[in-house]
Amino acid sequence: MKRVQNPGKYNATLTDYLREVHCVCPSCGGHARITAEAKYAIPWEPTNVRFICTNCARRETWPSEKFKSKFEGFDLRNGFEPYFGYKFYFSRIICGEIVSIFSQDHAKDIAEYISAHDRPSPQNSKWAMVNRLPKQFKLAKNRDAVTKALKSIIEEAQ
Ligand SMILES: [Zn+2]
Repeated sequence: MKRVQNPGKYNATLTDYLREVHCVCPSCGGHARITAEAKYAIPWEPTNVRFICTNCARRETWPSEKFKSKFEGFDLRNGFEPYFGYKFYFSRIICGEIVSIFSQDHAKDIAEYISAHDRPSPQNSKWAMVNRLPKQFKLAKNRDAVTKALKSIIEEAQ
């Protein structure tokens, strides 16, 4: 039986993954990346937030004058990232659910969790990233479809 390698990391909150977020550049429609640092995951108070487009020269600093960030209660079904309000680069309909994937690490951690047959329960249950996944993702019959969709995101993010 496949077990999760490092169960402790499933205590990571969804906000932990806000350190790296891939989004669509509003200037060129290309692949952009937002990076941030933070001392704690809750409350999420990011510093050194940077927006860098890999396709054009667009750079942005945060906070944005045009968008009010709200990190609390963030939902993966929301198609817009919470720093500047831009569209997530990796938004997919997987098993009938719209899901936004922040980054390659986010996709990898979800894939590892979903593909495991013996899933640990996170201690930080309310805010744990894995507990904020759509219920359909955790059904055994959807395991292959979800891991396949995540694998394509992981490859594209490289
Ligand atoms: Zn751009």
